[in-house]
Amino acid sequence: MPRQLTGKVVIATHNAGKLREMQELLAPFGVEAVSAGDLGLPSPDETGHMFAENAAIKAHAAAKATGLPALSDDSGLCVEALDGAPGLFTADWVGPNKDFMAGMSRVERELRKRHVPDDPASRRAHFVSALVIAWPDGHEELYEGRVHGQVIWPPRGEKGFGYDPMFQPEGFDETFGEMPSETKHGVDWVKDGAKALSHRARAFVKLAEGSLKRA
Ligand code: IMP
Repeated sequence: MPRQLTGKVVIATHNAGKLREMQELLAPFGVEAVSAGDLGLPSPDETGHMFAENAAIKAHAAAKATGLPALSDDSGLCVEALDGAPGLFTADWVGPNKDFMAGMSRVERELRKRHVPDDPASRRAHFVSALVIAWPDGHEELYEGRVHGQVIWPPRGEKGFGYDPMFQPEGFDETFGEMPSETKHGVDWVKDGAKALSHRARAFVKLAEGSLKRA
């Protein structure tokens, strides 16, 4: 039986886009959320070899520093024709200035280097989100979600964050960058988990089933 999250939780991220989405996704569950940035916590080095390991590093560091349960997300974009890259290195591909256009351009450049044709089947990709809640006593729960689709060029849309403008989920004509966040999460995902769309919302469905109670 997974441990339940109640009261206050630290969201262990310094990524503004991710923080906004995690706050939105937590909102229906009456959990009070504070961010690692607001608490002045440092960002630990992400030395893991899997999304789940990096999520655990971030959540345990924040739980230990604050004495509160901490929720972290480690996520990334995996492009099949690039053997899963950028994957764990998705954040690194945007460079030190956090220029997401640079990250998206690198994906496109790498695809062209490999002469990958510009059709949906050749450009299959998925986003992964690993969510870890860690408690100060070292207990942790892990929940994962993914969404399949394709990477497109040129990027479209100003909404969302990160690589959203170049990712078009399966069954949709819009990229994540063109969708309001309710659509990216999946309308009515709280009532019906099967309606969750984004990798993060799909991981939150599992988190909700395991460790959250609806407010
Ligand atoms: P992390 O902070 O190490 O997990 O880095 C995740 C990387 O993947 C960052 O560059 C994010 O911008 C990108 N990323 C993760 N989730 C999303 C998403 O929902 N949309 C767009 N980019 C994302």
